[in-house]
Amino acid sequence: MKLPSIRASAGIISLLLALMAVVAFFLVSAVPDRGIPILIYHEIGPLGDGDREMFIDPHVFRLHMRHLKEQGYTSITLKELHAHYTKRQPLPRNPVVLTFDDGYQGVYENAWPIMKEFGFVGVLFVTDYLGKPGYMTDSQVAALVSHGFELGSHSRTHANLLTRSDEELIDEVGAYKHELERRFGVPVTSFAYPMGYFDQRVVDAVREGGFLIGVTVQEGLADVGQGLLTLRRVPIFRYNCMRSFIRKLKIGR
Ligand SMILES: [Zn+2]
Repeated sequence: MKLPSIRASAGIISLLLALMAVVAFFLVSAVPDRGIPILIYHEIGPLGDGDREMFIDPHVFRLHMRHLKEQGYTSITLKELHAHYTKRQPLPRNPVVLTFDDGYQGVYENAWPIMKEFGFVGVLFVTDYLGKPGYMTDSQVAALVSHGFELGSHSRTHANLLTRSDEELIDEVGAYKHELERRFGVPVTSFAYPMGYFDQRVVDAVREGGFLIGVTVQEGLADVGQGLLTLRRVPIFRYNCMRSFIRKLKIGR
């Protein structure tokens, strides 16, 4: 006589467990910020034997952009990310930041046509290498900025800022920011530490120089808890296969 009621309660328990699993699934998927991927690219160009590990072939770059498009990612700037962190400005569903360090020529010549095709913009981190062979000219940078790219600073001379005197630091950070703003006629509020080197003195100089966002080369998805001037990024290397690109996009490393 007791058997059917045991069966019935077992049935109810498994139903409850299934319901709890469904609720847990939705709670986990509703977590708003699991971190935002800020990808680091350098040169986008055909590879030769001597090319560095950060140089990405345009064909591979196209696969990256196509994947982002297919997965419903929208590119945002660091200015938009700052507005989200400080003013709760809403972000698109799958935001990604595409940053390009050093101002290489291939960003204009090879990356930009592909990005345009997929509707993406990026953030340029430039130095006074601009105009030198292999690097973008001012007019190429201005053209990208007029199409929605954000202009950021990567310091004046791409120096290891840990080794610079306080005076030199002001020139590398604050003075170069104002020079870029005068030259290109746009506010420059994002800073990328050259080679990723920073300490508290350097971060203070970046804040006092008037920057709102700072990005490092420490691997990981960006989260406001890391500090607005020391956000993590996701470096993309030449040897990363598509599978590791997809993993890095999701978990930052
Ligand atoms: Zn650099």
